[in-house]
Amino acid sequence: MIISMRPHATKAEIEYVCERIRDFGYKVHSIEGEERVVIGVVGVGDVTACLESLEATPGVERAVRISAPYKFVSKEFKKEHSQMRINGLEIGGDEFVVMAGPCSVESEKQIMETAEAVAAAGAKILRGGAYKPRTSPYDFQGMELDGLKLLQKAKDATGLLIITEVMSDRDVDMVADYADIMQIGARNMQNFALLKSLGRCGRPVLLKRGLSATIKELLMSAEYLVAHGNSNVLLCERGIRTFETATRNTCDISAVPVLNELSHLPVILDPSHAVGKRSLVPAISRAAVAVGADGLIVEVHPCPEKAVSDGAQSLTVPQFRDMMLELKPYLQLWKESRQREVAAV
Ligand code: PEP
Ligand code: MN
Repeated sequence: MIISMRPHATKAEIEYVCERIRDFGYKVHSIEGEERVVIGVVGVGDVTACLESLEATPGVERAVRISAPYKFVSKEFKKEHSQMRINGLEIGGDEFVVMAGPCSVESEKQIMETAEAVAAAGAKILRGGAYKPRTSPYDFQGMELDGLKLLQKAKDATGLLIITEVMSDRDVDMVADYADIMQIGARNMQNFALLKSLGRCGRPVLLKRGLSATIKELLMSAEYLVAHGNSNVLLCERGIRTFETATRNTCDISAVPVLNELSHLPVILDPSHAVGKRSLVPAISRAAVAVGADGLIVEVHPCPEKAVSDGAQSLTVPQFRDMMLELKPYLQLWKESRQREVAAV
């Protein structure tokens, strides 16, 4: 169950509601929203009796039964698709947002050139890893703080927002000084210590689906972030492990409409990691638009053959430019269907 208190409900009213919840044998998990308090209720008990009683309790605006194990991120909790305003940019609204940039920040020249080029082609957010989760300990591990500083420089020069990965809860504060969006990598989707500290970090988070994670597990991880105080969560499908070897991962394109059915959170598709091969990226990007994603996160490199990571899946700058042009008619249709959806809710 979720109990939404009225805006400006008094402390005494909130306390009383919590007491009633406990009387019914449930546990209270309370989070402070920006303008109102929302109380998450967990446990077993007489749901109907509890809901009826709480609905009639002073200060309560709405009490809803939520059958999904993920509560705050579920569609049952909130029917309308969530929008997030991030330093002036809206995600989840009526603009399809493209994040683009190299897999890793490698040098000043590389990141500045890429940033200028992707901004000119219509990207709104610059991606680039300063902390890299690599399968081999002998591979490039990222420029760390120097990389974050280069991202800042690219942001100052272009006005692009920055998305970059944070791998450890120890680095959350430092990365938050530079990132507009904190990325949780696929390998860290169930790093619960990291999820908890990102719940408290005050910055929006893009949560990537784990390599072998189910949609339910992805949503449970998103629930961690929200339950620990961060409702600005973007979900990201980036391909999953299957028996198929023709692509690096298998792009679960159906994850986008499935997530849109189960959750109100915006959904971003990462075609680069999903397929691992640059020639396939434009087709999967078009598919993402068609199935109703809110945006893309795409790898672009000025010279992919020299990239220290993920060169094979990185688009060159001209390829990215072409892809953005090719997406235009699809984005027009996307806009029309988004407007119809908003009108229908
Ligand atoms: C990345 O974005 O470069 C990355 C490492 O992605 P993932 O965590 O999805 O593998
Ligand atoms: Mn990568």
